[in-house]
Parts: sequence; structure tokens; C-alpha cells
Amino acid sequence: MSPTAGVIRRLDETVVNRIAAGEVIQRPANAIKEMIENCLDAKSTNIQVIVKEGGMKLIQIQDNGCGIRKEDMEIVCERFTTSKLQSFEDLSSISTYGFRGEALASISHVAHVTITTKTADGKCAYRASYADGKLKAPPKPCAGNQGTQIAVEDLFYNVCTRRKALKSASEEHARIVEVVSRYAIHNSGISLSVKKQGETMADVRTLSNATTVDNIRTVFGNAVSRELIEVGCEDAKLAFKMKGYITNANYSMKKCIFLLFINARLVESTSLKKAIETVYSAYLPKNTHPFLYLSLEIAPQNVDVNVHPTKHEVHFLYEESITERVQQHTESKLLGSNSSRMYFTQTLLPGASLCASEVVKPTSSTSTGFHKSSDKVYAHQMVRTDAREQKLDAFLQPLPKQQPCIVPETHKVDEEQKDDKANPECSTTDILSDLEMLDASDLVAFVEEKEMHTDKVEESEASTSSDSVLPRKKRPREESDVEMDDDNQDRTMTAASAPRRRVISLCSVLNLQKDVEDRAHKNLQDMLRNHSFVGCVNPQWALAQYQTKLYLLNTTKLSQELFYQILIYDFGNFGIMRLSESAPLYELAMLALDSPESGWTEEDGPKEGLVEYIVQFLQKKSEMLKDYFSLEIDEGGNLTGLPLLLDNYIPPLEGLPMFILRLATEVNWDDEKECFESFSKECSMFYSIRRKYILEESAISEDKGLEAEAPSWRWTTEHILYKAFRMHLLPRKEFAEDGSVLQLANLPDLYKVFERC
Ligand code: ADP
Ligand code: MG
Repeated sequence: MSPTAGVIRRLDETVVNRIAAGEVIQRPANAIKEMIENCLDAKSTNIQVIVKEGGMKLIQIQDNGCGIRKEDMEIVCERFTTSKLQSFEDLSSISTYGFRGEALASISHVAHVTITTKTADGKCAYRASYADGKLKAPPKPCAGNQGTQIAVEDLFYNVCTRRKALKSASEEHARIVEVVSRYAIHNSGISLSVKKQGETMADVRTLSNATTVDNIRTVFGNAVSRELIEVGCEDAKLAFKMKGYITNANYSMKKCIFLLFINARLVESTSLKKAIETVYSAYLPKNTHPFLYLSLEIAPQNVDVNVHPTKHEVHFLYEESITERVQQHTESKLLGSNSSRMYFTQTLLPGASLCASEVVKPTSSTSTGFHKSSDKVYAHQMVRTDAREQKLDAFLQPLPKQQPCIVPETHKVDEEQKDDKANPECSTTDILSDLEMLDASDLVAFVEEKEMHTDKVEESEASTSSDSVLPRKKRPREESDVEMDDDNQDRTMTAASAPRRRVISLCSVLNLQKDVEDRAHKNLQDMLRNHSFVGCVNPQWALAQYQTKLYLLNTTKLSQELFYQILIYDFGNFGIMRLSESAPLYELAMLALDSPESGWTEEDGPKEGLVEYIVQFLQKKSEMLKDYFSLEIDEGGNLTGLPLLLDNYIPPLEGLPMFILRLATEVNWDDEKECFESFSKECSMFYSIRRKYILEESAISEDKGLEAEAPSWRWTTEHILYKAFRMHLLPRKEFAEDGSVLQLANLPDLYKVFERC
């Protein structure tokens, strides 16, 4: 049977329009791009985008621009209606985004569109709905601010092929956020935001007073923004200008991010991208890429904007020459930045970039878990990993005889031990475990004398292996207590002599423990477990080496997390640090309210009343505080003991007044889990090592350049805190992102730099 010829029919006009519209608007992000461009053309300074279900259910854009005149409302959604172009010649000098009058028309053919708008001289706002390019009913007067709000509902409700081609709501949402953030970066000085309907937090929000770099930071983070080089060049002959920001040779990532704007329109240009990437390939590790934001201004008559309805693809005259100029300029800037490399390189997750060729085989005899491999070790991969070898401290002045705060008054650091410290081959950790008595500030001091536990076996560094990551390692107390006598009823003791552990089966506590495990970062834990301590920068920051990488670690943050975890895991099993003189809560709370940190104002009422209330309140909780947290308050309202969280560690006691105040104001006492959590947070904040307090203490000696004479915090940091991090800390994932752990240098990269010089 021979096939019969089909009958050719003219398509219904609405179908034609719908198909054409689907070409212009292919997905929610396209619609949003067009609408943002319209807002910018209308000179808006504040543009807010709200979307629902990835823009498929609703896109709403509110601006504060010039608005649409009532008499134009009838035709705005018809094809080829525009306020921006009158004749064909105008096309060559077009400086606004839109010019075809096609966007709104297209959108109205494939979605329900409602426009609410008010011009500066209009008496009120007007609202109208559109279908298939036509006004549904005459615009209705309504209340509204100057500017335009366009709501696009049920996109592609009538084009099922388009709807089916869309990705999941979350993927479409991601594309929307991408478009909005790119326009936000390009339009510093204008505030742009995008959020999901019903959410209070925006996915992206930029402020009108933010700079381009601020906006890049907001969108792409610090890791990118601090590595930026400003670029800019122009060429009168080629009639173009270029400016932007690109990352230097210190920064690299798996995928190239290229924000290209030509005459303020977000476009793509594969040829330009390739050209610039060629420049970078000489500077960046293999298979890694830069971040680039370039804005090109090309004489309008040289740009062929009329390529495709989506206007994504833009061609221009002298494309090759302009590309070459941009390439040359990038190269010169990159070279320039190389000679003044910045110190901070990147906040890489430890091990995140560890590709096979980079894996390190230590040459020393310490175990870092890489012995199995027999691959050849190249010179640049050799690393020192023995923590006992020479450290930065060796270049400082020798340790003084007295260690304020940490070394007990009664404890004499004898000659032999001092030698230990001077000799980097000897472990100083033993000395530490000898220290039982602690003398603090004038506020409190420890009085109880304890036996020495010199026989305590510390887990040697050599036995830690990078294989054994989660779950969290038990602290010695957690493991050994069971074997101990139960006859010691007094829990005023050091860890090693603690009584049998109480088994805690409170769901709230177990859940909090699980939370800690759930948010742990395995690579970071590997790093902490196997790091070699390099030295302290100050009480807040310290350097550590892991494999071929040097890291800057925020000791304050890490120690806070450590104490939090100790509070959650040793819950109900703490020793007590007894205060030699009990500290009246009344005075502590009063001290806190007197300090500006408390934020007390007259409106809060007289301090005396507040303080009395706080004392009474905490007294009511004293039984629970003592039982669970070893925080002792006597009947007279005096603080007599604090939990012993880590042997030989005393919290910075200057923080005690604020701690007491915050116990009454910041802890949620109503819900069991939240109570334990917020108490532990407050307590860990108080215990964490902090720069402010310690530097205030040693400010005088530092002024005289004698800082090294008061190194107690250095010693505590290295031998108590970092040792504990190595053994017990389950680092939070956030640490890898919030700058708490920064990678400063990577040996192979340094080789690369030096080879070049
Ligand atoms: P074009 O931008 O190409 O002119 P559009 O279909 O995008 O075409 O918009 C049609 C017309 O609607 C514009 O020319 C403009 O006059 C008006 N318009 C659209 N959005 C806005 C807005 N946010 N503020 C003011 N006027 C707008
Ligand atoms: Mg437009």
C-alpha cells in the first residue's frame, strides 16, 4: 500500500504563538532573566524574585522601577510591543536589554500573567491579567507602590512537551538562583534577591551598597572572593572595553565558572572561554579551572544581537581580535599576581583535592596510614610528619620557669622537665599528666591536692591511624572507668581516678551524641588525627601540617566544639574543679551586667533585681546542674565548683561572669534536649580558648616585646588542646567551609611556584 500524502493545514494562530513562545522561553530561568532585564531597563534599584516549585507554579518579580502607564497596559503583552525601539535603525544603537517586545508576549502565551504596576505620576496602581497576549479585562485600580510586580503562574500549563522537558523543581530552582545571582554580581548598586515562596531566608540577597566583590563573596564564598584580581582594558580601534574580576593562580576548582556579560546581557561565548582557559592552563594544576567574571562593552553597532530568540548567543565584529586582547590582558594580570602571591590560598577541604597522583607517602617512620603503598616517592612529596621534631616554638625564646594559670603554684617544674621542653626529642606530654594542681586567677583557685598519675598511659601518636575514623574515639575516662573501684564517692578528681561511669540512657543525650556524629567531617577528622603540630600564631589560630599541606586552624572554634562534645559524651560523669574560694553568684552576675558585653540598658530594669532573680533561678537548678554537669552551687548562692572537662585545662575565668549570666538568659530550660544542648553550648563557649582574654592578660608583656615569656597558652594549646583534638574531636563539616580550617600551602604547588621563578 502506497502512503497517502498528508493534508497540509495552516496551524491555528494560538498554537503557532504557543510554539514560538516555547522557543523564546524554554524554562523558568529564561523567563526570569527576561523579566529581570525589563526591571533593569525600567531603572529599578530593588528587584525581588519569589518562586514556587522551581518557578513552574509561580514566578513573582517585584521592582521599584518606572512602572507601566495605564494606557500601555492593554498592549504590553502583545508581540512586538515595546517602549524601547521605534525603527529598524534603532537596533544598531540599542542600549537597553529588551528591544523586540517579545518576552512578555511569549510568557503570556504559555502562562497566566498578572501585572500590578504604578508609575511615579499615576494616582494609584493598576492590576490586569493576561492570556495569549491579550488583556483579560480592563485594568483595575488598586493600591501599590511605584514599580511593577509581574506574577507568572503555571508556566507551560498549555504546552505539555515543554513542561515535560523541564527538570525537577529543585534543578529549575537552582538555575533560577544562578541567573539571579549572576545579574546581582553584574549589577552592584542594585539590590537583588531570590527566595522560595513562604521561606524567610532568601537563597541569594545582595545589598544596594555592596561592591561587585562583595556580591561575588555573597554568591560564591570567601574562597573565591579573596583570590580575585581586578582586570580591565580597552581598545578604541576595536571599540570595546572590558572589566571584571578573575581568580589568581592560587585558586582552582573542578569546573570553570564563567560569568560573561556583553553590553550588560548575560551571554555565553565558548570561544572566549576557551581562549582564557588556555592562559590559565599554564598556571593551574591539571584539570582544574578558574572563576571568571567579565563584562564587555562593545559598540552596539558591532554586536549582532539578532541571532536567536533566546538572545543567549551573541556574536560581534572583530571577535577574534577582541578575544586575543582579552587573552593578552588576562595573561599579564596573572603573571603580575604571581609575583605577589597572597598568603591565604584556599579553604579546601582537607583531602578534597587529593587526587591519586598527589597522595603522600611519608618518609619518616610515623604511621599515617600510607605505608601500604609502594609507589615511588618523589622529592616534592616527602614530608615530615613526626610531631616531635623541631617546631616553630624552637625559634622563640626558651620557656619561662613559671607558667601562669596552668602550672600549679605547688608544682615545681624541675630541671629535668625543663630540659625536656628544651629538647624537642622528648615528649612534653608526660609533664602535663603530672600536673594536678591548678592555680588560676584571683577569682578562683584549686585547692585540692591529688596524687600524681604518672603511670597514665597516653595513646601514642604512632598508634593512630587514618583508617580508624568514625565513630568518635572514646576518651580515656569513658573506657577505663569501669575497671576502677567504686568506693570513691567524691567525684572531685582528675580523669584517671574517676569512679565507675554512670550509664546515661537519656534519649535527649543520645540524640545529641548522634547529632555530633552526623555532622562529623571524615577528612577533617583524618587530618586532625594525624596532623603534626607546627606552632601557634596566637591564642586563636595555630598551624598544623598534614601530609604535604599546611593548615591554619581556628583553635577557639575547635576547642569550643571539643568541650561541647565532652559535655555531651561525658554527660553526668564529670570530675569537679573545686574553687578555693567560693564565688558568689550575685557578684558574678553583677560583674556581667556591668560589662558592656551584656547589653544591659536602663529599660531592662534595675540590675539588683535582675541579679537576684538570676541567683534564685540558678539555685533552683542547682541540683540538676550538679548532678549532670558537676556545676556546684551551694545553698548560699555561691559557685563552688566547675566541671572538669579536660585534665589540666582551666577555662579562661574572665569569662565566668558572662557564663553565669548567660546560663540564666540563654539556656532553654523548658525542653530537655534543648536544655542540655544550650547549656553545653554556653559552657563550651566559656571553656574555649579565646584570644581576647588571653591577649588582654599578656598585653603588657607583649607591648614590651616579651610575649614569648608568657607562653602558657601556647603550651596549653599544643599539649592539651591539640592533643585532645587528635584523640577525641569529631570535627563539624562546617569547619571546612567557614574558615575554621584553612589550607595555606601545598608542597607540590609551592614547587610549581618556585620552578617558575
Ligand atoms: P522588551 O523588553 O523587548 O521591550 P518585553 O516583552 O520584555 O519587551 O516588555 C514589553 C514592554 O513592557 C517593555 O517595553 C516595557 O515598556 C514594559 N515592561 C515590561 N516589564 C516592565 C517593568 N518591570 N517595568 C516597566 N515596564 C516594563
Ligand atoms: Mg524585555
